Amino acid sequence: MAADTVFGKIVSGEIPVELLAETERVIAFPDMHPQAPVHILVIPKTTAYDNVVELAAAEPETLAEMVAVAKQLASEHANGEFRLVFNNGASAGQTVFHVHAHVLAGGLEEGSLG
Ligand code: 5GP
Repeated sequence: MAADTVFGKIVSGEIPVELLAETERVIAFPDMHPQAPVHILVIPKTTAYDNVVELAAAEPETLAEMVAVAKQLASEHANGEFRLVFNNGASAGQTVFHVHAHVLAGGLEEGSLG
């Protein structure tokens, strides 16, 4: 169960963001510390899940919606190709425990997995 996180505050509108996409279950906004020319976060509106493993087990349709939104954003902001990253746990680099997808695109040709 996700605690009260910064992304929960973004979903509720307490913290304003530039909304890049919104669907029934999902919103997307720019990462505040971009790691690529295009770096967008896609998150579910529900605060119930810390990570993608929990979300996939409980609400696979929401995960599918996140992937579809990622694809749409990559087409709007880059050439349609993208890297989708889910950090899963603190030792894997996760800092916000409200499941989120990093959509990274643009100029990643030289990139490693890191
Ligand atoms: P994580 O390390 O948990 O996978 O990724 C969390 C991401 O959220 C980081 O890339 C960080 O820059 C981003 N982030 C954290 N707080 C905020 C915020 O208040 N607004 C935005 N736009 N991004 C945030």
